[in-house]
Amino acid sequence: MDIITKVRNKERLGRKEGELLYSLDLYTLGELADEIRQEKHGKKSYFNINRHINPTNVCADVCKFCAYSATRKNPHQYTLTHEQILDIATTSIQRGAKELHIVSAHNAKDGVEWYMGAFRKIKEKFPHIHIKSMTAAEVDFLARYYGYSYDEILDMMIENGVDSMPGGGAEIFDEAVREYLCKGKVTSDQWLEIHEKWHKRGKESNTTMLFGHVETRAHRIDHMLRLRDLQDKTGGFNAFIPLVYQKENNYLKNCNFPSGQEILKTYAIARILLDNIPNIKAYWATSTINLALIAQEFGANDLDGTIEKEAIQSAAGAKSANGMELDDFISLIKNSGFVPVERDSVYNELKVYA
Ligand code: SF4
Repeated sequence: MDIITKVRNKERLGRKEGELLYSLDLYTLGELADEIRQEKHGKKSYFNINRHINPTNVCADVCKFCAYSATRKNPHQYTLTHEQILDIATTSIQRGAKELHIVSAHNAKDGVEWYMGAFRKIKEKFPHIHIKSMTAAEVDFLARYYGYSYDEILDMMIENGVDSMPGGGAEIFDEAVREYLCKGKVTSDQWLEIHEKWHKRGKESNTTMLFGHVETRAHRIDHMLRLRDLQDKTGGFNAFIPLVYQKENNYLKNCNFPSGQEILKTYAIARILLDNIPNIKAYWATSTINLALIAQEFGANDLDGTIEKEAIQSAAGAKSANGMELDDFISLIKNSGFVPVERDSVYNELKVYA
């Protein structure tokens, strides 16, 4: 049976077939992905009103692709106090944010309580805000550096108010590429183990894949299949987010920004291969907003959110430092032929902008 028929028959594809998908032309892939998207989500495109907070860029790790952490290329260290974090949270929540997306570098100076105390203070003041925080890389760092088990860190996160985990730190799971990109950081198996433990606590998380640097298409397929395997066991991933690599101000050489075609093919293949992850997110901060809008026709049903402030991708060249106004976001989705739907952090619908 040919691969197109297999996709239309909803038969699960294996590794070689996943790789073969890249050889299909862009329009065929888009059509296949869109059929699945339409069946699952119709013309709805999800977003949330969120605020990204990046409380420190002081990092004990050195990832070649990173432009955010304080290094020779970015000598400006900062670490926010709890009061500063709380001020930012207060302003954003008063402006309508329903989720705080808090991701830090690996701060070896201030201890576990600096992380946990921030969550606790936000939740004491705003019990209903959703805190999405602590990538598996951060969990691994705190456990490793301060002598805790993963279970202890995950339990502390829950006790102090973390509601869900973001998907950062996954990068690319292939061990050789990972060794080159981010040696010393959480391993692929550890990343998966941490999310499995989180899901077993009844909690949800996102998952990501950083692509468009030195990896091959086969590495991307391998990455997606490892996620699909874990999702079969736990069902705890609510979204897959292919992150397009940003190439400025870092130590990773000889990388070209992937073409729009390659990015769209990757979204479409994710939609086809990841038959057990409900949402494919085109994170506009890394893909650009225009390509994210087109990605809605290539399997993506989520565009992340208004973001408000963003420091990690914008340090590497993305045009996301100041987020996007809600009205602009809604009219862009509408003008592209889709129905904007505001969601909460775990994909309950809050408002349909018909
Ligand atoms: S990607 Fe994260 S862990 Fe790696 S150097 Fe940057 S801030 Fe540190």
